[in-house]
Amino acid sequence: MKKVLVTGGSGLVGKALEAIIKEQAPSDEQWYFAGSKDADLTNLAATQTLFQREQPTHVIHLAAMVGGLFHNMNNNLDFLRNNLLINDHVLQTAHEQGCVKVVSCLSTCIFPDKTSYPIDETMVHNGPPHPSNYGYSYAKRLIDVQNHAYHDKYGRQYTSVIPCNIFGPHDNYKPEVSHVIPGMINRMHKLINEEPELPESEKVFTVFGSGKPLRQFIYSLDLAELMIWVLRNYESVEPIILSVDEAQEVTIYEVAEAIAKAFNFKGKLVCDTSKADGQFKKTASNAKLRSLLPNYTFTDFEKAIKTSVDWYKDNYDQARK
Ligand code: NDP
Repeated sequence: MKKVLVTGGSGLVGKALEAIIKEQAPSDEQWYFAGSKDADLTNLAATQTLFQREQPTHVIHLAAMVGGLFHNMNNNLDFLRNNLLINDHVLQTAHEQGCVKVVSCLSTCIFPDKTSYPIDETMVHNGPPHPSNYGYSYAKRLIDVQNHAYHDKYGRQYTSVIPCNIFGPHDNYKPEVSHVIPGMINRMHKLINEEPELPESEKVFTVFGSGKPLRQFIYSLDLAELMIWVLRNYESVEPIILSVDEAQEVTIYEVAEAIAKAFNFKGKLVCDTSKADGQFKKTASNAKLRSLLPNYTFTDFEKAIKTSVDWYKDNYDQARK
């Protein structure tokens, strides 16, 4: 019997994993989804108590201080320290308690700022990250360093996945911390619902920045399926990029258009170029994933956006906003 502990189990990816596991219900696996109410993982004693209580054999480690461009830019020290603490406590406690596998989460936004494209798994440590999120990036990169060190010293199979930008139900819509998609969903919902006397065709939705940066977005339910596959089948300490194909990259403006379509928004979209764009692109290659899972089909972007927008409208009262 595998006992799988998911840290960060109450977040965007954790909820997607829970939804997939509920559908599949494997008989030889027991899953526990822990949020910060179960344990503050910046606290070592609390982390140890959680592991002693749940006795996991496997861990999917998602818990992290997570945020969009603007939240990162203003809080690099907190991103660095909180994530260093969380990661060290989880990995060391997993090791001490004999967990056979840990799958942790890096991100494509931690890669070197100056790089060739597409980026791949071998390039994580090849140069400084973008200055906007160096705290988050270095803390995440050290997970990979630590995984190798546990392997070298103890033969542990602790590995990591590198997702591109993620979106889906249960995202974090708080304006001060949100990533681009939940941020736009929240702002468009507000715009549509405020000033009901104003015809929608006269409302203007502002896209932050030039709208030109390119991004790959993965639907949280697709990522959850792939992470479960990694937990069960991927036997390497080296990280693996979990991303849609390069051809599925979209501009930020196209994201705004897809969200407007999902809301059936009748107003205008304008770009505010006084706001930061962040990295222009961070195109990632999923060739390694494709070599192992050539036939995996990602959910259509517009369809996944529509599901995510509908989830937000249907769950507005309980959404993190
Ligand atoms: P969320 O912000 O939705 O969830 C974060 C999770 O971490 C929550 O369950 C939260 O618990 C938990 N958490 C935060 N701080 C602590 C703490 N001190 N102690 C215990 N738990 C804590 O994040 P996502 O689901 O989006 O991210 C999951 C992983 O994926 C992260 O490692 C992130 O870095 C990575 N990632 C995310 C991307 C994205 O676009 N969202 C892109 C690439 C990688 P609670 O809510 O109960 O407080």
